[in-house]
Amino acid sequence: MTFNLATILRESRLASPGKPLCHSQQATLTYEQVDEASGRMAAALLALGLRRGDRVAVQLPNLPEFIVSYFGILKAGLIMVPLNPLLKGREIAYHLRDSGSTILVAFSLLAAEAVAGAEEAGGTAVYVVSPPGHDQIPPGTKPFAELLDAADTGDIAPTNADDTAVVLYTSGTTGKPKGAELTHFQLYMNCTVSGDLFGIRPDDVSLAVLPLFHVFGLSSVLNVAVRNAGTMALVPRFEIEPVLDAMEKHRCTIFSGVPTMYFALLHADTAERDLSALRVGCSGGAPIPGEVIRAFEEKFPGVVILEGYGLSESASTTTFNISAEQRKVGSIGKPVWGVETRVVDDAGRTLPPRPEHVGEIVIRGHNMMKGYWGNPEATAEAVRDGWFHTGDLGYADEDGYFYIVDRKKDMVIRGGFNVYPREVEEVLYTHPAIAEAAVIGRADERLGEEVVAYVALKAGAHADEQDVIAFCRDRMAPYKYPREVRFLSALPVGPTGKILKKELRA
Ligand code: AMP
Repeated sequence: MTFNLATILRESRLASPGKPLCHSQQATLTYEQVDEASGRMAAALLALGLRRGDRVAVQLPNLPEFIVSYFGILKAGLIMVPLNPLLKGREIAYHLRDSGSTILVAFSLLAAEAVAGAEEAGGTAVYVVSPPGHDQIPPGTKPFAELLDAADTGDIAPTNADDTAVVLYTSGTTGKPKGAELTHFQLYMNCTVSGDLFGIRPDDVSLAVLPLFHVFGLSSVLNVAVRNAGTMALVPRFEIEPVLDAMEKHRCTIFSGVPTMYFALLHADTAERDLSALRVGCSGGAPIPGEVIRAFEEKFPGVVILEGYGLSESASTTTFNISAEQRKVGSIGKPVWGVETRVVDDAGRTLPPRPEHVGEIVIRGHNMMKGYWGNPEATAEAVRDGWFHTGDLGYADEDGYFYIVDRKKDMVIRGGFNVYPREVEEVLYTHPAIAEAAVIGRADERLGEEVVAYVALKAGAHADEQDVIAFCRDRMAPYKYPREVRFLSALPVGPTGKILKKELRA
């Protein structure tokens, strides 16, 4: 079947050409402008000699040029490789080499790393997007404008629906980053199904602060907005004031974020702001404590937080809590249309739907990746008997809702007992002085592992180690509560805002 994902842009442009597709601090671009610019970029890429299936890497923050590049690459029948703008030269080289990208679109202020990476990878051409007032083109790069220079605005290449559209790097459960191959059809299905589940309306304005280079931002924010001719307010990184400014100025109705972003909004001073347009918060990427949902909805009346679950390999949404009436707080919801989810034991047998039957969550359906780019061994390890093994531990209930208890590798085994850090974190979040919490295991001679909590306190709040330990001891079984509490001013977070447990372990 012939199908190109860029059709979602063309259709929305035909329906509403003059409507803003995105606002950024620099510019507002309409559907017509993005369709035209990405068409020119497609023509320019083909004029450079690139051919169907070739890879182009894009290493940009959330800027309009990210969106133009994405659709330009797709329209040319090429494969988009989104990369985190903060990668260092050596890491960039790895991703360029692994994906075989011959062009890299980078941000001019971070060009030194991009150029170093491109050189190490063997001469990838670097084009840079410059912010206003920074017109100088760094040595070894060319201006992005050259990629918009073509005279014609190009047709959309007739790719096959199961051609790879995007290679999305993820560290998965182990080892070096691997590129999950997501197809045109798979990404189309995610934005179609997710848009319905989020209850997207044509007048919705979505706050896009989740990085677009990550599956959540790309598939569940950008594609969902464009598929539904919606508008996005782009914010390049999560800083509370710019986020609140954009939310207020553009009257955002939808916020998609990871739990740490909800905590930050919860603790921000919003008394003088009009955020009344906000109606839905989509949470994913990490477990959101029930206490945060409750407090957030109390602070922002009229907003409902809906939690979903997904991975890079599943093109984003796999399960979702579809509405306030049908959600179960603490659960990741039910599998979305066309996706099957099971909980299996180590022998691959399906476990009965009960909390005491914790196993690995496996999935299959239209949302599952084609495989890891150029890595059949990793693909064979992750996809067994047609089921993708997520590395997440969870259980189902009798109503078909799923619950994540933890990442397989995050589970702490203390004296032979399984401790799921998430459960301990849920309790820590109910402590009145604690703003952020993460629990990990520390090697222990006697017990194998000991439970350690890292916490950041709310501004002006006080608590000491014994106080936190006692609080937990009163609320959970003796083998679970943390014996050690370390205080940090803030917990380390990754590009999407997820707490980085591996840094805490290090
Ligand atoms: P990534 O591929 O970077 O999107 O990471 C996917 C991982 O994020 C999953 O395997 C889960 O461990 C975690 N994750 C995503 N959504 C949730 C959620 N709602 N609750 C708990 N963990 C989640």
